[in-house]
Amino acid sequence: MKPWYDAREILIGGQWRRTSATLPVENPSTGAEMAEIARGTAADIDEAVAAAQAALAGEWGSTTAAERGRILLRIGQMVAERAGELAAIEAADVGKPLKQARADALALARYMEFYGGAADKVMGETIPYLSGYTVYTLREPHGVTGHIIPWNYPMQIIGRSVGAALAMGNACVLKPAEEACLTALAFARIAEQAGLPPGALNVVPGLGEEAGAALSSHPGIDHISFTGSVQVGSLIQAAAARNVVPVTLELGGKSPQLVFADADLDAALPFLVNAGIQNAGQTCSAASRILVHRSRHDELLTRMAERYTQLQVGPADADLDLGPLISARQKEIVEGFITQGTDLECAATGRIVDQAPKGGHYLPPTLFAGAAPDHVLAQQEIFGPVQVVIPFDDEEQAVQIANGTDFGLVAAIWSADGARQMRLAKRLRAGQVFLNNYGAGGGVELPFGGVGKSGHGREKGFEALYGFSVLKTVAAHHG
Ligand code: ADP
Repeated sequence: MKPWYDAREILIGGQWRRTSATLPVENPSTGAEMAEIARGTAADIDEAVAAAQAALAGEWGSTTAAERGRILLRIGQMVAERAGELAAIEAADVGKPLKQARADALALARYMEFYGGAADKVMGETIPYLSGYTVYTLREPHGVTGHIIPWNYPMQIIGRSVGAALAMGNACVLKPAEEACLTALAFARIAEQAGLPPGALNVVPGLGEEAGAALSSHPGIDHISFTGSVQVGSLIQAAAARNVVPVTLELGGKSPQLVFADADLDAALPFLVNAGIQNAGQTCSAASRILVHRSRHDELLTRMAERYTQLQVGPADADLDLGPLISARQKEIVEGFITQGTDLECAATGRIVDQAPKGGHYLPPTLFAGAAPDHVLAQQEIFGPVQVVIPFDDEEQAVQIANGTDFGLVAAIWSADGARQMRLAKRLRAGQVFLNNYGAGGGVELPFGGVGKSGHGREKGFEALYGFSVLKTVAAHHG
């Protein structure tokens, strides 16, 4: 597959150019090097921030909200038309099965459509005040927004973060993850072709500790959004704090699905398993804990185990249930967790198919039972295809276990009892609660973000437009 862009280039102020150093790109399905990307430096970030500032002072800054919307809609349309190509690039780069990569490309298109349609519908208000005054509010862009994104869902995260930021008139500097930059570069080409003015979107691939650190600590940045690990998120918040820059952090979780005695297991089962193994478990909102009423525990475990034994792991282009993990390092981390589960019951594993290339980072999905709620596998984010099933005796205990980690991103309640659903939706510590369904990563329209170590701020949905803007109050005294 010959890409229509040069992966070694960075985009600054509408100019594509090479950097002196490059980084290798590995295909996780084979372990072979498939491309090279630019290794952006702090100097490149300086230039990108200056280009974004110039865009705000120039054409992009004077573009009307309606015109910004039209540009985003055009981008969305072009992304949808090229979804197959984008999916092939993403599948090769990240190792995700083609159907998942295609869903990601279509989600990116949908984000552009959603934020394109919303761009001219963000309004201020008038506020009753003293006699002789008129007071109103304006929603204005922050200015230059920095976007540091991870490798697990590059297209979706570009969509939700860059899409909302552009809709509000910010100029973006995007630092994709060093493991997965290719669709960010392809997206920037499409945006350019769709008429996005120069400097509105700048893309600088590079290492986290170089380009990423330079971006998060840059005094010219007015807002930073980050999706990734807790460890790096706290570094980014500290770096931004020195410049008193607001941050949005989405840092993952240990999300539970609660299955009550009256749950419809037939309906729940696909959600219980898929939300754990989607993208090989490398999903912030993976449902890595299944909490089940003791009366249904054995039945649920048997049925989940049955499904697990059918799961196939193989190369992205074979389009099976799971692809490889992103890297040898990630595989080692996840295997490290699995070895800490030797005191648990391994209820089932999936199967790596025979044709999986030897150099790929394949790991069979693993289902554990018998974990105490404070077991390391029930507490820490594994970021791999591992789920634990934990029994509970009553509603109160279910809530205690569900809320008993450092995280709070997503939760689900499976029950036929409407009153229980309402009661628990309020008590669960999570940014999103699903009742009799589970939307790992889904829902362009749905505000998304966490509490606790899952982060703060909201992306996705209309709410993100508030996060990517600043409220100004104008008080006029006219007598
Ligand atoms: P993971 O551990 O899953 O790779 P990270 O949180 O390390 O996730 O990476 C997410 C993003 O953060 C990537 O784009 C990465 O380059 C970037 N990053 C990593 N370290 C830093 C850092 N010190 N400062 C800024 N960005 C960083």
